[in-house]
Amino acid sequence: MTFKELEIVAPIQKALDSKGYTTPTPIQEQAIPILLKGNDLLGCAQTGTGKTAAFAIPIIQQLFNSSNTQKRPKRIKALIVTPTRELAIQIADNFAEYSKNTHLKNTVIFGGVKQASQVGRLKQGVDILIATPGRLLDLINQNLLSLRYIEHFVLDEADQMLDMGFINDIKKILRLLPERRQSLFFSATMPQNIKELSQTILHNHQTVTIKPKQATAEKVGQSIYFVKKSDKTNLLIDIINQNSKLTTIVFSRTKHGADKVVKKLAQAGIKSAAIHGNKSQNARQRALGAFKNGELNILIATDIAARGIDVSDLAMVINFDLPNVPETYVHRIGRTGRADASGNAISFCDVEERAYLRDIEKLINQKIPVIEGHDFVDDSKESFEKKGPSKQKQQARRKGNANKGKPKNRRRNPKS
Ligand code: AMP
Repeated sequence: MTFKELEIVAPIQKALDSKGYTTPTPIQEQAIPILLKGNDLLGCAQTGTGKTAAFAIPIIQQLFNSSNTQKRPKRIKALIVTPTRELAIQIADNFAEYSKNTHLKNTVIFGGVKQASQVGRLKQGVDILIATPGRLLDLINQNLLSLRYIEHFVLDEADQMLDMGFINDIKKILRLLPERRQSLFFSATMPQNIKELSQTILHNHQTVTIKPKQATAEKVGQSIYFVKKSDKTNLLIDIINQNSKLTTIVFSRTKHGADKVVKKLAQAGIKSAAIHGNKSQNARQRALGAFKNGELNILIATDIAARGIDVSDLAMVINFDLPNVPETYVHRIGRTGRADASGNAISFCDVEERAYLRDIEKLINQKIPVIEGHDFVDDSKESFEKKGPSKQKQQARRKGNANKGKPKNRRRNPKS
């Protein structure tokens, strides 16, 4: 399958060629024809699958085909709502790249920075708007933008939106959209509340599901280090020192934890930066910029700040803390092993995180290999009890049980 076979118009095709995209990813192959026909779509897929292009290309193509270049002023005809600022910026960058050979204009609005330059760009006229919910409603309330002419609406990362408490904002936005529109709804997971929300947005939709397994198991090498909480930083320093050239995102469960890791790494002479919700938008953009252009190899992130960040050639993901929601593990390790690259995902697991590990292994339906014999192995009694006996001990125990009550010299059936 090629993009030509998907009947992509020449200006977009040219932009894709210059990006070096030769073949559509599975979600693109499935979603693009549905969307070009004007249908609604429920996409169950996470970032890293090529989902942005899967919705951006058909939206650009439909606007390109229907647009009248003479019409002034421009009206906002496509709206993409996404939970985080970083993701919004990234989606806008993708739209700009794929539409660079058309006359279509896009812009991005998000909170945490002054609104003046965003309003200025809106006033110049845009066709496509990418927004986080808060700033979008804020500017609507100030009568600085209207959703009256929206023809294409995308709700991206719906599960994350709900986790972040955006449900009321989403409901408000939905009430402002025209009835007649194409709606796209993307979520990495589909619990009941997400399904219900999708039903209020979509009409006669088609569904495309790209299983997280494709994005994880096949391309990402995963491993677990059992380690005491107090040894995690030293283990991290060890691993980074052995792989200092690799672009690495280290995930921390808390903002405070992320800052602490940056400090400890600095004491060990390792340069890193944290991105999380307590950092100013400018600080986050600076850190991300330095990371993307290779000045900085190590980024310490919380889940919300990192979700959806697309850094090409991200070689390693380290889970300094295991997430308590197993799906988050899949999102995190999806930062590496994207499109064509293969990646490495290392997780630290202390005694208290064993239950999280079990949930994760259940979700991904595989056992993550354990790295034995490293300098910081947790071999405390408590750890042993949580982990359970080693394989050899289990076998010895089973043999012992099996032989109970049997004559000592009885020959065992070699096949058993
Ligand atoms: P996304 O899931 O949208 O975050 O995309 C993940 C990564 O895959 C991004 O770096 C995209 O630029 C890249 N990508 C998307 N579609 C393709 C494609 N058809 N071929 C190669 N890379 C792609």
